[in-house]
Amino acid sequence: MSRNIIITGGAGFIGSNFVRHWCHTYEKDRVVVLDALTYAGNRATIADLEQTANLRFVEGDICDRDLVDKLLVEENIDTIAHFAAESHVDRSILGPGAFVQTNVVGTFTLLEAFRQRWLKQNKPADYCFLHVSTDEVYGSLEPDDPAFSETTPYSPNSPYSASKAGSDHLARAYYHTYGMPTMITNCSNNYGPYHFPEKLIPLMCINILLGKSLPVYGDGQNIRDWLYVEDHCRALDTVIQKGQPGETYNIGGNNEVKNLDLVKLLCELMDELATDIPVKPSSKLITFVKDRLGHDRRYAIDATKISTELGWNPQVTVEEGLRKTVQWYLQNQQWWQPLLSEEYQSYYQQVYKRL
Ligand code: NAD
Repeated sequence: MSRNIIITGGAGFIGSNFVRHWCHTYEKDRVVVLDALTYAGNRATIADLEQTANLRFVEGDICDRDLVDKLLVEENIDTIAHFAAESHVDRSILGPGAFVQTNVVGTFTLLEAFRQRWLKQNKPADYCFLHVSTDEVYGSLEPDDPAFSETTPYSPNSPYSASKAGSDHLARAYYHTYGMPTMITNCSNNYGPYHFPEKLIPLMCINILLGKSLPVYGDGQNIRDWLYVEDHCRALDTVIQKGQPGETYNIGGNNEVKNLDLVKLLCELMDELATDIPVKPSSKLITFVKDRLGHDRRYAIDATKISTELGWNPQVTVEEGLRKTVQWYLQNQQWWQPLLSEEYQSYYQQVYKRL
């Protein structure tokens, strides 16, 4: 079926990669990007698609009900892929309010607007509301615990993960209460092109290029499961095409890596691929800093359900993906340099006070 899809947060990291994926895969579909262009949103990331694809960009807030209602009608929308969020744990510790507003109230606004439209159209079975979420809603694992599955109880520990958990519950309730076709995906840590500089992998690449310290929280033994962003986009596409309404799908890369090992890998790659870096070996820049408050120890995803029921599996190994990502940051300095703004520097000082 061809779709008229709203992609919220389509100027952010995963959202923009998904917009690119969708426009290239389904050229005839109508794509509307709704994004408030917060510090994390960058219209330049998808500017080429605005010229070449069947895409309309709308700068606006997902909490603006009138705007959302208008877009749903004007563009005859049948599908929402919902990425827009405040997404950075460190920022949620400094200021949780925006997380509750966008992640909880914003998701509620979209769900309620979509429900009204779905009712007016006599509940079409092919309508789809995909809520994109995180593995962090499940809390933290001990070293020997089994990976998170779709039935793992929620136990969010940060204001970010708590606000995402709240929005997941709303999406779930809209299926169980109203029968509205919502689906939820909970994914592990993504990496790849167009990732905002505050996140671990771009932060390390950029600091190595600038000869700045590489801040590693605590003892660096926290474990994350890493997934290349294009694999995530293919998984979300698969869920929209083949997923069952009301279901949740966990998405992961089966790549558990300790933070310190990841930083060392990035140092090796940068030493190999960057022609001119101020400090070599760049691992000399590694600096242990005071741990993040409430820092979850380990996340791991059991992606058996999406693999066996929908046939999705990751294709990019962590070695390939990290190499591609490092190359991308080396070749696209004009994309990330303007993002190191005054606001970013002041945020950085607040988070890494001890550097
Ligand atoms: P991001 O911070 O890079 O992008 C978020 C985008 O949402 C930005 O473009 C921003 O301008 C927009 N936005 C923020 N508030 C808005 C509002 N009120 N109205 C409209 N737009 C608004 O985030 P990301 O890393 O691309 O994450 C996208 C989604 O995927 C989030 O829901 C996040 O919880 C989820 N997720 C992320 C990861 C990850 O590793 N990054 C992993 C799993 C799930």
